[in-house]
Amino acid sequence: MKKDKKSGFSTKSVHAGEIRYNEYGSITTPIVQTSTFIFKNIEEIKKLAKGDLDRYEYGRYGHPTQFAAERKLAELEEAEDAVLFSSGMSAITTSLFAILTSGDHIIITDDAYKRTLDFCKTCLDRYNIECTVVKMCDYGAIEEAIKPNTRIFFSESPTNPYLNIMDLKRLMNIFKGKDILVISDSTFATPYNQKPLEYGVNLIIHSGTKYLGGHNDLLSGVVLGKKELTTPIREYLKITGGVIDPNSSYLLIRGLKTFEIRMQRINENGQIVAEYLENHPKVEKVYYPGLPSHPHHDVAKEQMKGFGGVVTFEVEDNTEYVLNFLSRLSIINIGPSLGGVESLVTHPATISYYNCTKEERLSLGIKDGLIRLAVGVENAEDIIKDIDQALS
Ligand SMILES: *Cc1c(COP(=O)(O)O)cnc(C)c1O
Repeated sequence: MKKDKKSGFSTKSVHAGEIRYNEYGSITTPIVQTSTFIFKNIEEIKKLAKGDLDRYEYGRYGHPTQFAAERKLAELEEAEDAVLFSSGMSAITTSLFAILTSGDHIIITDDAYKRTLDFCKTCLDRYNIECTVVKMCDYGAIEEAIKPNTRIFFSESPTNPYLNIMDLKRLMNIFKGKDILVISDSTFATPYNQKPLEYGVNLIIHSGTKYLGGHNDLLSGVVLGKKELTTPIREYLKITGGVIDPNSSYLLIRGLKTFEIRMQRINENGQIVAEYLENHPKVEKVYYPGLPSHPHHDVAKEQMKGFGGVVTFEVEDNTEYVLNFLSRLSIINIGPSLGGVESLVTHPATISYYNCTKEERLSLGIKDGLIRLAVGVENAEDIIKDIDQALS
């Protein structure tokens, strides 16, 4: 299913990218579980070497299940091409290495995913690639950070854990006519809720581990954009080797079949739970872009279809109270990650930032009373009941 770009989102989720009548007539895309693809005869090798034959060769260079998942994702994001990786971090590190050269400069926003920031600050530095960290949504600071050697601007929207929203129109105005690649990690938005490519963002990255896979059972990452930009990244992946395996590719295809339905439910649940929390006497503050109290609510309404499942909130600044709350939950599980069918809750101060000092945490705005909830597709009233009994 490639011709009809105008098909509905769920129709694409179910059918796009897959071969309608595959070799076996199986309705599902086969998991081609092999590391190598053998040649029928010497003629085939000769043709391949001359570039006269387009075929699979070796698992690290791509395989049929991966390519089907890539085609589906490209259609959902309305991108020319998609390249899959073994994890979101593999997608990020391989892409940045593929683009950047010694002497280049990258700008990244301060509330980007922690491991992405770690990579930019501690790893790129060793290759003489300079990194400037700017405050998220400080458009003046973003413009001021640009230097003659700036090659990439990297940010996310919404961000973790405060769900800050980048105003993409305003952002792209800053980079208009400049030879700088704007890359957006759109994991929290998903191609269902937001389409940054429409605003001129050059490359989109998702951790497919989250909403795209959607069932907390796989790791993957994807980079999407124009072929001229994704091709060098695909070539670099052949060197760095962070390929997605056939089984995870299949799980991703399977997870994506219900993508729109899951997102609709998760958007609904997120809004209901955020409104409930905002009215709870024990909750001091709620961060959710769907609430009028969120500082970027207007931008979010303008550029997003829904606001996703992550709801961050603050209770009293007392680790013991928070940990008590977590241990009383009986439906919501305690754990990192988000975007799956199961609701998950994390306490950033003890789960994601445990190796930071308290001062470092506070400078990033990670207070002891901060809780990040990622709602799943359970019934909203049950999620609320669970939170209610645990808070009291
Ligand atoms: C989880 C996540 C990543 C990393 O993805 P993995 O699949 O865990 O490697 C990157 N960016 C964001 C925003 C994430 O939430």
